[in-house]
Amino acid sequence: MFKDQQRIILHCDCNGYYASVECLLRPELKDVPMAVTGNPQNRHGIILAKNQLAKDAGVLTAETIIEAKRKCPNLVCVRPHHELYAEYSVKLNNIYLEYSDRVEPFGIDESFMDVTQTWQDFANSPKDFADLLRNRIRQDLGLTISVGVSYNKILAKLGSDLKKPDATTVITENDLESIVWPLDISNLLYVGKVTAKRLRAVNINTIGEIAKTDPEFLAVYLGKIGENLSIYARGLENSEVQKYTELDEAKSIGNGQTFSEDLISWPKINQGLQGLVAEVTNRLRKSNKVANVIQVQLKSSDFQVFSKQTTLTEHIQNYEQIWPVVQQLIQELWDQETPIRLLAVTAGGLENKDQVYTQVSFSDLTLNSSDDFDKSAPDKEFEKQKKLNNLVYKLNQQMGGDYLKLGTE
Ligand SMILES: [Mg+2]
Repeated sequence: MFKDQQRIILHCDCNGYYASVECLLRPELKDVPMAVTGNPQNRHGIILAKNQLAKDAGVLTAETIIEAKRKCPNLVCVRPHHELYAEYSVKLNNIYLEYSDRVEPFGIDESFMDVTQTWQDFANSPKDFADLLRNRIRQDLGLTISVGVSYNKILAKLGSDLKKPDATTVITENDLESIVWPLDISNLLYVGKVTAKRLRAVNINTIGEIAKTDPEFLAVYLGKIGENLSIYARGLENSEVQKYTELDEAKSIGNGQTFSEDLISWPKINQGLQGLVAEVTNRLRKSNKVANVIQVQLKSSDFQVFSKQTTLTEHIQNYEQIWPVVQQLIQELWDQETPIRLLAVTAGGLENKDQVYTQVSFSDLTLNSSDDFDKSAPDKEFEKQKKLNNLVYKLNQQMGGDYLKLGTE
């Protein structure tokens, strides 16, 4: 039972989203093992999603098509239709919005809902409400969702992973010790590979063990993430589910500049970028936001657009923090020959600076684009890189050319 004053938070997660949407449009795919994949021409094309039959054959998300076909020779591979997934995402959220205005998408096929004020209008218990919602989604859209029902977002999210497909899991305060604490740490949101490894190194293997570890130790050992994980594991997370209508606020702050003449040297490009970073930094500061995604974009004189972005382990705001990241990206991006007409720098993954104290980055959780450079690099590495970048930049400036550059692998 939930206590009277407790919030009722749902996390709704579509099961096998990409594959399910593909099967909706081509029902014949339901009866064969199928997977949505990257480009099959590319040796590194990977499995993005699979249906139940492929799953039964042992096909795993994120493995290569070659590996998957070895296990399941008759696997049908289809290319992704991202516009379609976005369309169904809107349909899903529109249904959720019929039940509450606090609907916060968390990725394309997941949303948090706060139904504290509304569930009673539709059902006899929060669990009944979640079941009703699942039926509604199945009937209206032909998709199945797993729903976690709890009193905070972290536990709702954890719940939606425990039973699937098409299931409801309720986690009340009383269930914390019996259901949540015995689970492996990897079940907790934001415990990515890097964090899990560090926790296991000190013999913390279950969520209960996180909860029972001295929070101060975790804070010293892991930094902000450690502090937060302790809060999550003890069931004390209490961030709000945002109102859907308030989500339209800028999710990124970007700035671009078209140059009157093409840029073809490091000093010129760096000069251009410095101005852009300064501008983005100012805007972040004015809006009291911090960012953990940095993107650099360039347009060549023949109007080709190239961009690269990275997701960081920390949210940042200052010039000194953003500049080395931009440096790294541009070095990976520019071939040092193509004349550049336009440069742009964008900071994304924005959060309110004050709120970030109770949050952690997606860093080692996110299965991100191959464009990322080492996101999990420890701060020391980052510091070293930053110093190196600055040194190279200064030397080049002193020499008035672009004699030195950092090697990229
Ligand atoms: Mg999902």
